[in-house]
Amino acid sequence: MITLQIKTFGPLPHLAFCWGLSLWLSAAPLIGVCLCFGRVDFGFQPLFWVGFCLGFGWLCWSLEVSFFEKMIEVKNIIKRYGNLEVLKGVSVTIGDGEIVSIVGPSGAGKTTLLQIIGTLDKPDSGSVLFDGTDVLALKDKELARFRNRNIGFVFQFHQLLPEFTTLENVAMPALIGGEKRSDAFAHAKELLSYMNLSDRFEHKPAQLSGGERQRVAVARALINKPAVILADEPSGSLDTQNKQELHKLFFTLRDEMKQTFVIVTHDESLAGDTDRVLHMRDGLIVTPEPESEIIV
Ligand code: ADP
Repeated sequence: MITLQIKTFGPLPHLAFCWGLSLWLSAAPLIGVCLCFGRVDFGFQPLFWVGFCLGFGWLCWSLEVSFFEKMIEVKNIIKRYGNLEVLKGVSVTIGDGEIVSIVGPSGAGKTTLLQIIGTLDKPDSGSVLFDGTDVLALKDKELARFRNRNIGFVFQFHQLLPEFTTLENVAMPALIGGEKRSDAFAHAKELLSYMNLSDRFEHKPAQLSGGERQRVAVARALINKPAVILADEPSGSLDTQNKQELHKLFFTLRDEMKQTFVIVTHDESLAGDTDRVLHMRDGLIVTPEPESEIIV
C-alpha cells in the first residue's frame, strides 16, 4: 500500500498543497493537448521548463512530500480506565522504515498508545492495522504469535530476566517463537557481537552496565527480525554518552535492517532527530509544535 504523506501539517500547507495539486492536474491535460497538436512548442521555451521544474521542486520541498509504505495505521482509538478517558480518538499512520517519536507531558497517554500499537493492550474502540493486518481481530494465540514475530519492545528499565545470561535473554523470543536452539543461540551471538557485546555472552544482567543492558534489550528486541520496534523511554535511565550511542544505534538499525521505530521519549535531542514528532496532550495527538516548545 503506497500512501502519500504530507509531513508538514497545519491548514496553510494543506491549502497550498490542494491549490498546487489542482493547478498541476488542470495544467497537465492542457499541456498534453498542446504538445499533441503541436500548437505550442514547449521545447523552445527553456524559461517555461525551468519554471515548471523549479515550481514542482519547491512544492515538494516545502511540503516535505514523501511516498512511503504504510506499516502501522491506528484509527480513532478510544481507551478508558473506569471513568477516565485516557485516549480520546487517536488516529495516526506510520510508514515502513520511519522513525517516529511521541512526546508530551506525563499522563498524556503516550505509553497507553504505545501499548495498544504493540498489541499489549486493547482499546475500547477504534482499529489498529499492522502492515494491513487487523490485529484487534486476532485471537489470543494468533495475537501472541503475531506479536512475537512482528514487534520488538525496548523499555526504560530493560526488563531482562535476572537469572538468565545475556545470550539466553537475547535468544528467548526466538526460542518462544519455535526456532531451533542452536539457530537461536547462533543468531543471538551474531546480534550481541553486532552490539559490541561479544565478550558478555555469559554475563547476567546484574553484571552489566546500564548502557550494556539496554543494548542487550535492543538485541533481544531484534532477534525475531520484527518489522517494528516500539521503545518506551529507551534512554531514560542512561547517562549522556550511552544515551547518544543508543540513539545512534536506532538510526543505524533503520538504515541497515529497515526497521520501523516508534519511540516514546522525553529526550528532546532524540525526538528532534527522528523523522516525525507526534505531540500528545490530554489523550490526543495535537498539531506538531515547534521544536523549542517540546514539553519535557
Ligand atoms: P504517559 O505515558 O503520557 O505518561 P500513560 O499512558 O502512562 O501516560 O497514562 C495516561 C493516563 O492513564 C494516566 O493518567 C494514568 O494514570 C492512566 N493509566 C494508565 N494505565 C492505567 C491503568 N492500568 N489503570 C488506570 N489508569 C491508568
